[in-house]
Amino acid sequence: MELPEKTRFSEWFNELIFTAEIMDVRYPVKGIYVWMPFGFKLRRKVYDYLRSLLDRDHEEVLFPLLIPEHEFMKEAEHIRGFEDEVYWVTHGGLEELDVKLALRPTSETAIYPIFNLWIRTHADLPLKVYQIVNVFRYETKHTRPLIRLREVTSFKEAHTVHATMEEAENQVEKAVNLYREFFDTLGIPYLIFQRPEWDKFPGAVYTLAFDTIMPDGKTLQIGTVHNLGTNFAETFDIKFETPDGDHEYACQTCYGISERCIAALIAIHGDNSGLVLPFRFAPIQAVIIPVLFKGEGRERIMERAEEIKSELERRGWDVVIDDSELRPGAKYYRWELKGVPVRIEIGPSEVENNTLTVSFRNDKKKFEIEADKIHELTGMAMENDDRLREKSRRFMEERIRMCGSIEEAKEHAGKGVALFGWCGKTSCGEEIENRLESTLLGILKGGYNAESPGECVVCHENAPYVAGSARTY
Ligand code: ZN
Repeated sequence: MELPEKTRFSEWFNELIFTAEIMDVRYPVKGIYVWMPFGFKLRRKVYDYLRSLLDRDHEEVLFPLLIPEHEFMKEAEHIRGFEDEVYWVTHGGLEELDVKLALRPTSETAIYPIFNLWIRTHADLPLKVYQIVNVFRYETKHTRPLIRLREVTSFKEAHTVHATMEEAENQVEKAVNLYREFFDTLGIPYLIFQRPEWDKFPGAVYTLAFDTIMPDGKTLQIGTVHNLGTNFAETFDIKFETPDGDHEYACQTCYGISERCIAALIAIHGDNSGLVLPFRFAPIQAVIIPVLFKGEGRERIMERAEEIKSELERRGWDVVIDDSELRPGAKYYRWELKGVPVRIEIGPSEVENNTLTVSFRNDKKKFEIEADKIHELTGMAMENDDRLREKSRRFMEERIRMCGSIEEAKEHAGKGVALFGWCGKTSCGEEIENRLESTLLGILKGGYNAESPGECVVCHENAPYVAGSARTY
């Protein structure tokens, strides 16, 4: 099956996910997909890295999937935000349950009743935990692997508790920096917005979100950070004793990343031939292709290929040798589709001259190195990743435009992110969404340098903010 051109992004993405063996899309429940071995290795490398960042100063926990109805229904705004997408367990075997159980759509209402028991005094704070779990949402919009799911399989949610609002604010900043580091390493460029009031996390004081621009110009929300203030602490009675003996409500934050980070990784770096993966995260980092001719030194070539494989594995690489019966062209096609960053060809002349013929997946240019200099390959692969990051950064910046009028913003919002001055009033925000037929992403907080043109694009009054708008996933 031929991969569609990447300019037909939606078809390209759906086809690639399946043919590159990331997900099997044939599971017989809408919006629920299967991680295949190759896809799962990619997931593992990305999430191992995310874990390593969190493990610096968070502890990992695992809370239950089922949330009793009375806990789930405690926080009024939170319910309004989620009630139309919750799956309920109503029966145990043939019996109807006394208490309905929600499949977590997110875990605040599973975790915070227990925080109420864990937190007694100021000495218990700050508390910072995270978990990587599946969550369920009854999506009624068009579902799509890795992007819009009914079972989100890889939801990393962190929850923190602090003594003061100032500390919660600091934690929000730390979480934003952690996410910056994560996405920078993946080479996924982003804009950071403070979401408008009507689009913040249900129950939060405010929400910061990371958006990336997909190849079709629509934005994908890839991470969120919420300052919850004391909203949930008041609902779940999370109080602590201060050094003076008073009892105060704690301040909380939470922040999440899902497998949309993998969707972005695939969408942003991939090309017409398939996946392009950063060296660090590629499930297979190098493929060795023995170039075999009938009867001509076959054994020596295979021996050499094994030596090179062991040499690279000693350096921590994941390597395969493709000695299948396929023609070389078919082998190249197969490994390009899977985004293997480094290809090494070994034939009679390479064995004779003690060299390797190498090419990188993203530019496909072949070059020769002396086999003794194989240790230089890791550094070269990392430099190649820098070029990949730079390319994706340029791609995103080309799709951002500061717009002076509502007409210009409307013209651009279908192609990428339109930026403009905004006074911050809800009425102007709503008018922007209506006239642009796109989503107001919120107030720009990072990821791109832009200064407010001074006046609101709708009311022409003083605009302290740069806001952005785009079509979104
Ligand atoms: Zn205005």
